[in-house]
Amino acid sequence: MKSQTIGIIGGGQLGRMLAMAASRLNFRTIILEPQPDCPAAQLANSQIVAAYDDREALQSLAEACAVVTYEFENVPVEAARFLEKLVPVYPPPQALEVAQDRLTEKQYLNSCGIPTADFRAIGSQEDLETALEEFEGEGVLKTCRLGYDGKGQAVFRKGDAADGAFARLGGVPLILESFVPFVREISIIAGRGLDGRIECYDPAENVHRSGILHTSTVPANISGDVAARAGDSAIRLLTALDYVGVLGIEFFVTTDDRLIANEIAPRVHNSGHWTEAACVISQFEQHIRAVGGLPLGSPNRHSDCLMQNLIGDDILALESWALEDDVLIHLYGKTEPRPGRKMGHITRLTGRR
Ligand code: AMP
Repeated sequence: MKSQTIGIIGGGQLGRMLAMAASRLNFRTIILEPQPDCPAAQLANSQIVAAYDDREALQSLAEACAVVTYEFENVPVEAARFLEKLVPVYPPPQALEVAQDRLTEKQYLNSCGIPTADFRAIGSQEDLETALEEFEGEGVLKTCRLGYDGKGQAVFRKGDAADGAFARLGGVPLILESFVPFVREISIIAGRGLDGRIECYDPAENVHRSGILHTSTVPANISGDVAARAGDSAIRLLTALDYVGVLGIEFFVTTDDRLIANEIAPRVHNSGHWTEAACVISQFEQHIRAVGGLPLGSPNRHSDCLMQNLIGDDILALESWALEDDVLIHLYGKTEPRPGRKMGHITRLTGRR
């Protein structure tokens, strides 16, 4: 039944959780992913084992599905544009374009009235030295594309030498961001339906370890005003992109309560996993509702909670998590616990609201 099938590009844990949510609403799912028996395909109805930009595979996906979505932001834009001629693609491919390049992303956020760190495009060592001088010797240098979890970055504090930094980061297009003196990092997850209705979850406070998300806590330790500004940013962005689906925005909160957007994820997000235990409608169901054309659900939170990622060997403590009350365990079907690999997460409810 074509009308009930959702295609998902990408076969990781986010695709897996989307497939789970989809199945409860009687949607079938097909995963497009080159790695056989990937986490998402273990739970989906079927998998097309092919590269993300394989035209024949994309054509078969479009023929079998009523709508196609994706679970990671580095889906080739040309693949999404090719698909959109055959079948609706949500979120819109423009969201991929914006999120794949840190320079485009910051320019777009600013054009929506969402503040970011000050930034300069860096195309040479000379550009870097000029920009660092403008930022009084401090800044964070990042590759424009394909950096994640702190990879492809260099931090400069006053007095640090910049020699050779452009080449060390690969001689590719870079962005230098001014250094944001933040006291905490938060994120907001929000969804927009086909009818334009927008729903925002409460912001979560995030702690990273070695560049990887370690915990997300709700409520975040922020004022109502900061929370409202995070929601306002999400509404501006979702509206500007004519978005359908769920997205995440990560922010820095500064000492003087300014909210500075760092990056966006045009998909469900790790810092929104808490919603599966603390809300009736999780971010995964919200995304499936949006792309499947159903009304969005309420993002209300019934509990306070802490989500902790299980990275690498953390999964060995599984039995002790299982003994705890009010802890939801969610594992991703990955067999080998390599260092830095996200194996699962737990959500501990810490009180009713
Ligand atoms: P990102 O890959 O952009 O998420 O950055 C990884 C981490 O580096 C962030 O979670 C921050 O802790 C830090 N960071 C990134 N950009 C900045 C910035 N402009 N100012 C201060 N810290 C930053």
